[in-house]
Amino acid sequence: MAVSRALRRSFSTVSSEPLRVCIVGSGPAGFYTADKILKAHEGAEVDILDRLPTPFGLVRSGVAPDHPETKIVTNQFSRVAQNGRCSFIGNVSLGGSISLAELRELYDAVVLSYGAESDQALRIPGEELAGIYAAREFVWWYNGHPDCRNLAPDLKSSDTAVIIGQGNVALDVARILLRPTTELATTDISDHALAALSESSIRKVYLVGRRGAAQAAFTTKELRELLGIKDLSIKIRQADLSKTPADEEELKNNRIKRRIHELLSKAATPAASVCSPGQKELHFVFFRKPDRFLESDCRSGHAAGLRMERTILKEDVDSGKQIAVGTGLFEEMGCGLVLKSVGYKSIPVDGLPFDHHKGIVPNIQGRVLSEASGNAQVEKGLYVCGWLKRGPTGIIATNLYCAEETVASISEDVVTGVVTSRSGLSKPGRQGLLELLDNRNVKIVPFGSWEKIDNEEQRRGSLKNKPREKLTSWQDLLEVATE
Ligand code: NAP
Repeated sequence: MAVSRALRRSFSTVSSEPLRVCIVGSGPAGFYTADKILKAHEGAEVDILDRLPTPFGLVRSGVAPDHPETKIVTNQFSRVAQNGRCSFIGNVSLGGSISLAELRELYDAVVLSYGAESDQALRIPGEELAGIYAAREFVWWYNGHPDCRNLAPDLKSSDTAVIIGQGNVALDVARILLRPTTELATTDISDHALAALSESSIRKVYLVGRRGAAQAAFTTKELRELLGIKDLSIKIRQADLSKTPADEEELKNNRIKRRIHELLSKAATPAASVCSPGQKELHFVFFRKPDRFLESDCRSGHAAGLRMERTILKEDVDSGKQIAVGTGLFEEMGCGLVLKSVGYKSIPVDGLPFDHHKGIVPNIQGRVLSEASGNAQVEKGLYVCGWLKRGPTGIIATNLYCAEETVASISEDVVTGVVTSRSGLSKPGRQGLLELLDNRNVKIVPFGSWEKIDNEEQRRGSLKNKPREKLTSWQDLLEVATE
């Protein structure tokens, strides 16, 4: 929602005290929110906290290493962090170093934009077996996130990987598994991942979707890129591409989905699927839902395959969408590596209302509500933005509009006096936060210290013809930050 010019003019006249805002999470949603607050509120002070010593959230640890153009947005975010009224404060964890209640005491407004750092579970037998990972963990591993550097996925015991889900994250991980490592070597992929992928014996990747080609969740550009991998044989069953009248109806109203269907149909031609010895294969498998993971006979506790149930699509009366329902027909597929790519999940912190059904913080236009249903009250001074607000979907730019809406709500609340106190009692803001963290011996990483990490990563990268060689352990990151 756009804020009117008259409303905008009145922001600075409501209170002589600067507006003190704390944003938790320094990914795209956090930085876009900071940018918009700084622009809309003359004199406002904005602090951006992150539990990591590094900023940029998903741009650093989610965007694939072979998508450098997507990471250019960090230049814009760095300019925001360098604004004299803005501070990045890394290595501070909400719920660990400081509680939500404390932050709300310290700041006029708290915006939570810490995203979705967990994963949807399939809740099927065998999910705990070794060799089964959430795609997020695999992504964090190849992107050098310090929490997943020791993941060590086994890429050597088998030639087959199964990826469950057909969204863009699934395509990212398929691409990383299938792309020649000579091409990955000049990206900012983590050293440990490049080494493991160079020795990988994974030759066949199955992308398994519970619905059909008309319902795949990935987008055109990403599909084209995957299909374009050098020396890759693409396997798609012609029968899976036939369209029902309901599919035709669905595709009629969606140009992107139509284009995806066309691309898949083109890739399904017999010529495209011819395979020479040793060539890598990508199999698109539609209409199969995971039923249970199979344990290896010779390696106890390890996954050796997946049992899937064939599905058909039925219209769901409530949503109007075609959903997958089981047919009672099962089949098994052997594999040594499974990546579950069925969506990310947000985790609440103490004192934060949470809608467990939707996996988001209940909110109206970014204003946090006390509960998901019933007579919910607005939690004064508490806001959300990004995946925590709307769920784990959308591209980086989606956060721009999301932040605009949340900042418009904050701005309205400033004007109506909901946020800044008219009593003259100002909140301690940054100074109070830094004192509290210092008392707790929390070693914060300000933006200048991140720049040391940044410089060191770029220096190490330049020795290997890479844009950067990421520091991947907490210890290395904190050591370089405090040098
Ligand atoms: P997503 O787009 O929501 O895809 C999730 C996939 O998992 C869908 O195919 C879904 O199938 C399937 N799924 C969900 N629950 C399942 C279950 N219980 N059993 C089997 N399959 C299940 O999520 P995502 O791939 O994690 O991506 C998250 C967001 O980031 C998306 O908006 C994506 O576009 C974006 N992203 C963009 C890029 C890029 O632009 N390059 C890269 C990465 C991510 P149904 O459709 O049947 O539910």
